[in-house]
Amino acid sequence: SEWDFTSISSDRAPVSIDTTVAHPARMYDYYLGGKDNFAADRAAAEAAMAAAPGMELTARANRAFLGRAVRFLAESGIKQIIDIGTGIPTAGNTHQVAQEIDPEIRVVYIDNDPMVLIHARALMETQSQGSTTVIQADLREPEAILAHPQVTSLIDFSRPVALNLVAILHFIKDEENPGEIMKTLKAALPKGSHLVISHCTLDFTAPEIGAALREIYNKATAPLIPRTHAEVLEFFDGFELVEPGLVLPPLWHPDHIVTQQEAENSHFYAGVGVLR
Ligand code: SAH
Repeated sequence: SEWDFTSISSDRAPVSIDTTVAHPARMYDYYLGGKDNFAADRAAAEAAMAAAPGMELTARANRAFLGRAVRFLAESGIKQIIDIGTGIPTAGNTHQVAQEIDPEIRVVYIDNDPMVLIHARALMETQSQGSTTVIQADLREPEAILAHPQVTSLIDFSRPVALNLVAILHFIKDEENPGEIMKTLKAALPKGSHLVISHCTLDFTAPEIGAALREIYNKATAPLIPRTHAEVLEFFDGFELVEPGLVLPPLWHPDHIVTQQEAENSHFYAGVGVLR
């Protein structure tokens, strides 16, 4: 009842959306106070919030980091952004933050969740942004992403690119070789390119809370793989971290005085790297 799928333009390939299994994108939407989620998503998100009080603060702090990082990219002169793990559009999407500063910035959104695609495309259509596009692809297939016609037509790989991997790498299991995925993507980026990463960690979380969270996400469509500071740092290999390095999201270029509650409820690492 939440969504009138008949209103979706018919020139799109039909998608099937399983509303009975919790999806991380829709759980995240619920943490952020969004409406684009179903009962299974809300139940899983409520369970996660009960297991780890402050979960919604973690999500909000991550989202706020995304906004500040994109502002930083735009102010650094970045003209093209590949944003993998778009999420369901909410306030302050990458293209909005970037194009408010520089309308010329081109953004390619990539997500593997069909529901994200539906919402993101609807947003693009109403905005008629020629320089923003959204495609369905999987981070675990980086070659396909780089070769995608809409990527190659919108992104000039001879000019600096920003690669945003905000709150997505923790859905890639070790056996899916996130290090190799990063290598492939980074190899396509020229000097001056930027890398924006945020990633879930349990470095500050009691083991029993961590175990409960893992269990909740294991039942969802994508399990959650928290990583340590050293492990997340490895994703930046070859890139130079800008100040203040890989830190709790609220502490990255803060735009207000960070309260202890915010800091304590931020179970993520966040950082921006530059290829020199
Ligand atoms: N980057 C946004 C949204 C994060 S939610 C933000 O930080 O606010 C994570 C998103 O990653 C979800 O939309 C989910 O569908 C997407 N995702 C998860 N695994 C993925 C994969 N393997 N390939 C592409 N997208 C993926």
